[in-house]
Amino acid sequence: MSRDYRPPRSVRETRAAAPTELEVQALWFEQFYRRELSTDDGRVAEIIQPGFWNHAAGPDFSRAAIRWAGNTETIVGDVEVHLRADDWHLHGHHADPAYDRAILHVVWEEKKGATFFPATSAFRRVPQVVLSPQLVAPWEELQPLCADLVQHPLPGAVAGRCSAVLAGLPAARVVEIVRTAGLFRLRHKARRWHWRRAIAGADQALFEALAEALGFHANQVPMRLVAQRLPYALLRKLSPTARLAHLFGLAGFLPEESVARLRAEPRGWLRELWEIWWKARGPLDYALLGRGQWKLAGLRPLNRPERRLAALAQIVAVLPKLSAALERRDQDRFADLLLAVRDEFWEKHATLIGTELAAPCRLLGEERVHDILINVFWPLVSLDDPAAAERGLTEMTAAPNSASRIATQRMLLAPLTARQQREALVQQGLLQIYRDYCLTDCSQCEACTFPELVSSWESPP
Ligand code: SF4
Repeated sequence: MSRDYRPPRSVRETRAAAPTELEVQALWFEQFYRRELSTDDGRVAEIIQPGFWNHAAGPDFSRAAIRWAGNTETIVGDVEVHLRADDWHLHGHHADPAYDRAILHVVWEEKKGATFFPATSAFRRVPQVVLSPQLVAPWEELQPLCADLVQHPLPGAVAGRCSAVLAGLPAARVVEIVRTAGLFRLRHKARRWHWRRAIAGADQALFEALAEALGFHANQVPMRLVAQRLPYALLRKLSPTARLAHLFGLAGFLPEESVARLRAEPRGWLRELWEIWWKARGPLDYALLGRGQWKLAGLRPLNRPERRLAALAQIVAVLPKLSAALERRDQDRFADLLLAVRDEFWEKHATLIGTELAAPCRLLGEERVHDILINVFWPLVSLDDPAAAERGLTEMTAAPNSASRIATQRMLLAPLTARQQREALVQQGLLQIYRDYCLTDCSQCEACTFPELVSSWESPP
């Protein structure tokens, strides 16, 4: 009798339908294909790791790692998955710089007839893999396995090598390890502000830290540059309107067009801002920011940098009170002062000349202020009182983001209680481990040293 493996017979009588794009992504994620894949340019790629599955805008997988046959170099980058080759163009990826780091275009089937070369916005050809003929088993066999995956909340990553080591430890030890990583991250942030405080003074360091936090991910750098080029000591001497004029003028947001053509509401005060700015801009000419320095594409209207600059202008007036709250380690007072930042125009607008928002919205909502407490308030407190900062972040909760979610999925932190997983210090620790180990790994965990670090872990005295 043959002992060869035979896939179980399916109870289905009809053939499985062709896969959806999500199912092809699941095939890629689960690595249900040969370890070495042929590409349309005649080469063979060894797939070391499929990358992290991205369920938001942008390429489908980030940090995939491959090696071309006959070459020892490991190539790390993004992978985009489609059903058909020409979807690359239909979805506009050839003109979108977000896809410039693509190292493979994975498609289910070939484009019939004409040859098709996917290319990035910089005209670099992206090698293409046709997956259907290179699977480890027929699609009918793999389809139920993918269906199971795509019916549940989609994961971003599979369990990593460290998960087995962590699973063998008591929950308290796992929390201790992750919190230690969180404290490292806190100290790292604090060190930067320590030097800014030494160079520019405590108020200016706080002002820059708040500006950077208001920039969120997309515009942290230009917001910090604005706060450095228009320092607190200069802005506090100006009237509220002059502060706005300087901030919008230097940031490059004052419209070039004639204000006479604008609708009535912004027209009056924009003219006022221009009157102030054209007299003030001469000495600041060297420091002007161009529109290209701001990331505006894909931003929700409420997160537009114009609203963040308006909030920064209001913060100038309360900075001494914020400094005093910081001094007293009073996070409630600090949060209340930020939540009280108001601006009648900017609560109804996302841009200087656009239409009104559907519903008025506070300049700084509770979520953003909570974020500022975690990323600014407690790191700054830790400069003088690390123990208070540790206590503060242990008592706070934080919503997981995509990076900490991937870290949780890779480390399989099931022994932690739901409260522990939401703890701000634990979330910070997960981000640090993700950044230091998962993001630098391109060996599918094989060369990562974190599992060994965990095995040899000794609790601090
Ligand atoms: S790269 Fe390291 S830290 Fe990340 S999942 Fe793999 S073993 Fe764990």
